Amino acid sequence: MTKKDGLYLDEYMPRSELVVERVCVEGPRFPVIDFHTHLGSLTDGEETEVRERIARHVDQLQAIGVEHVVNQAMRWGNELIGLLKTLAPWADFFTTFGGVDISQLDEPGFPDMVEDSLKRGVDLGMRGVKIWKNVSLGMKDRSGRHIPIDDPRLTPIWDTAARLDLPVLMHIADPVAFFRPVDRFNERFEELQHHPDWSFCSPELFEFEELMEQQERLIKNNPNTVFIIAHMGSYGENLGFVGECLDKYPNMHVDMAARLAELGRQPYTARKFFERYQDRILFATDCFPSWLEHMKYYEFLETWNEYFDYSSSGVPGQGRWKVYGIGLDDGILEKVYNLNAKRLLES
Ligand SMILES: [Zn+2]
Repeated sequence: MTKKDGLYLDEYMPRSELVVERVCVEGPRFPVIDFHTHLGSLTDGEETEVRERIARHVDQLQAIGVEHVVNQAMRWGNELIGLLKTLAPWADFFTTFGGVDISQLDEPGFPDMVEDSLKRGVDLGMRGVKIWKNVSLGMKDRSGRHIPIDDPRLTPIWDTAARLDLPVLMHIADPVAFFRPVDRFNERFEELQHHPDWSFCSPELFEFEELMEQQERLIKNNPNTVFIIAHMGSYGENLGFVGECLDKYPNMHVDMAARLAELGRQPYTARKFFERYQDRILFATDCFPSWLEHMKYYEFLETWNEYFDYSSSGVPGQGRWKVYGIGLDDGILEKVYNLNAKRLLES
């Protein structure tokens, strides 16, 4: 196609002419615990500067109705000590989940190392474990093989977490389209064009379906460990699958971080899912405080608004579609916004 025949995809920005009632949302109906956030580099640097930055960050979150956040830090050892020290003045506002040094997986002392590391973390105030997708989609063991997430060598982590009452938040996969060829049939084509490194379509890596099998075995084989599978149980595109797993495994929970676009394009299915699994879903965004972005989450959960943008950027980042609210009742909203999180954090 030549330019004179039409528009390039990235130039196409249609404006909706739909005229429907739209309820304006200016905050959440209940105080919010955001279960999946990252402070990232906010905590790095000169002490006074860091303190000011964090104080500002907390103010911004409180202004948009967030009363508490879980900082998924993935740090251990001295880095974790430093982080918890930095956050100590806001101990009521931040809960921190720490990581485990999985690069030592093949060392004979790995189980003891895990136990020591997690115990030390708990003594310092760590309240959970975060495992990132670098394990399932990046790391290799000593023999050069990728590590399945249900690998028995990882069991000491799940056992120790269960013993220490630490919930484990796992980010295992990514959107299914990231595992498919980046071609004209890919529903996340534009996003993958902008971020080619987000594609996991490679014969070297586990396929999405393999990861889901590993995920299910992990949860099944470790019934005493509380797992929170991030990003709608890794499979927001298939809530039927996620629901079946939740039915089978009472130790499984999900967070909704960064899956507003996914949920909002299937409002009937999503509403049924939230009704049925209202005790197992955690509010989460995975994003920095932003009035515009957070209001979209609240709008989705609380209203019946139709066909609205799920993000404030010109071309929506996760695909060219709009979303619909699911008008949840107060009882469900309060559980999703904070009661489910409180229960997990207090256990
Ligand atoms: Zn995250």
